[in-house]
Amino acid sequence: QAPLGLHLRAVALNATHVAVEAADVTEAHRLARVRRDFVANVSHELKTPIGALQLLAEALLDATQLPDSAPEAQSEDLLAARRFAERIHHESARMGRLVSELLELTRLQGAEPLPNPEPVSLDWVIAEVLDRTRTTSSAKNIEVTYSGPKGLMAYGSDSQFATAVTNLVENAIAYSGPDTKVELTVRQNDDWIEIDVADQGIGISPQDVDRIFERFYRADQARSRATGGTGLGLAIVKHIATNHGGRVDVTSALGDGSTFTLRLPARPPESPSPSPTAIEI
Ligand code: ADP
Repeated sequence: QAPLGLHLRAVALNATHVAVEAADVTEAHRLARVRRDFVANVSHELKTPIGALQLLAEALLDATQLPDSAPEAQSEDLLAARRFAERIHHESARMGRLVSELLELTRLQGAEPLPNPEPVSLDWVIAEVLDRTRTTSSAKNIEVTYSGPKGLMAYGSDSQFATAVTNLVENAIAYSGPDTKVELTVRQNDDWIEIDVADQGIGISPQDVDRIFERFYRADQARSRATGGTGLGLAIVKHIATNHGGRVDVTSALGDGSTFTLRLPARPPESPSPSPTAIEI
């Protein structure tokens, strides 16, 4: 058996080790917060100049608007100026989306569990999502259908739920061909509300499936960029789900469409256990 002195030294060393580890964790948390604050500040600061760029590009588009009646009056220079203005408008809109999604993701990453989750009507969420995605779906002649019982409730933030489902439906539209269908199904499964978003699109390969929820990960860089997405949509969905104690999963096969399932709590979080005097015997 080890002498007592040696034993005590080992205990002291272990304690130091634990203290050093605890300090490391605190430092890691501090660094993570500094990084989040930095991204949030930069994103916030970028919003103003990007907004200005968009307005200026719009003014330029108006100024280079040509009368249909006199196409022969359209000089090469004016046509080029209009093309550039369109490009600036398009790119600055994309930059604007990137900055607001980055800001949203940073906020979600720093979020504590919601203090007072509110009951949220799924009927409202679905109506909101259908409304927000109507223009993009009809541009590709994609029908977005909905099935599920009325009156279901989830507990949490209404705006975050609407954002999460909108992101999934926007992706379903972006990664599907024209004249296809996107099916939204909502059901209650014990303590969970499950929302399926199923598409008939390009699908996701097994090696990409586990990574698509990472920030900026894209299964097909070129194609994904062409859709105008930011590469942050699914990371936002994942954070919204986990911040509510839920999750998001996907089943997919390349060329065979994808089904994303978002699980949200159907019950308010456990209230603190009652004090002994309040227990009925
Ligand atoms: P993006 O802005 O690129 O769409 P997301 O975070 O929303 O970023 O998605 C990450 C990647 O996951 C996409 O680039 C795409 O490769 C893949 N993906 C997402 N949704 C779908 C879908 N419904 N069908 C096929 N691929 C998808």
